[in-house]
Amino acid sequence: MALRISELFASIQGEGPSVGVPSVFVRLAECNLACTWCDTKYTWDWEHYDREREVREVAVDDVAEEVVELAGAGARTLVVTGGEPMLQQFELVPLLVKLRAFGFRVEVETSGTITPEPAIAAVVDQWNVSPKLASSGNKRTARLRAAPLGWFAAAPNAGWKLVATSEADLAEIDDLVATYAVPAARVTVMPEGTDAATLAERARWLVPACVQRGWRFGTRMHVVLWGSERGR
Ligand code: SF4
Repeated sequence: MALRISELFASIQGEGPSVGVPSVFVRLAECNLACTWCDTKYTWDWEHYDREREVREVAVDDVAEEVVELAGAGARTLVVTGGEPMLQQFELVPLLVKLRAFGFRVEVETSGTITPEPAIAAVVDQWNVSPKLASSGNKRTARLRAAPLGWFAAAPNAGWKLVATSEADLAEIDDLVATYAVPAARVTVMPEGTDAATLAERARWLVPACVQRGWRFGTRMHVVLWGSERGR
């Protein structure tokens, strides 16, 4: 079995509840959405990127070997990201089984548009679910799907991570969180931005909004440190 890989690298988790944790990242290729502000368009936008150059098909055993090598004696968190990793949920299972046997804790990042099957649900320690708002430019029917969002709302190991581009997004986040009855303690909202100055400027209105609602404020540490550099 093989996975369609965009990139593999070791770094710190830059977002969400495990921010700062040393991790190995498996970035999978392809996405079922097309966010206008996406900072990983090289995983899916074949009008502007060359798929032949960007995607490599790698056998699961070889991916596991590369992850272990990248982790060295340190990192024991695996972050599967994308693109949309759930497009390859069946291929991912043997990789996650293998790496958990090596002692890795597994986080999977997803837009919450595909319901996990029991096989993958059993081998994921933490879901980082990032439903997309209208400001992402995707059609509502594509970005908000009731069945998977209901599944993730009911999963105690799923943190919801939302990206706000402006204050206008807050009402939509309020609505989403209320519709799916997501506990405030499981909600992280972070500003959209691909440079540190934009993130800081947007934090000015986002921090008070988070305090008011009991949400965690998140930033994008990798963007603060490295901007939009790839493989960081
Ligand atoms: Fe990019 Fe993620 Fe949106 Fe896909 S869901 S287009 S990878 S930001």
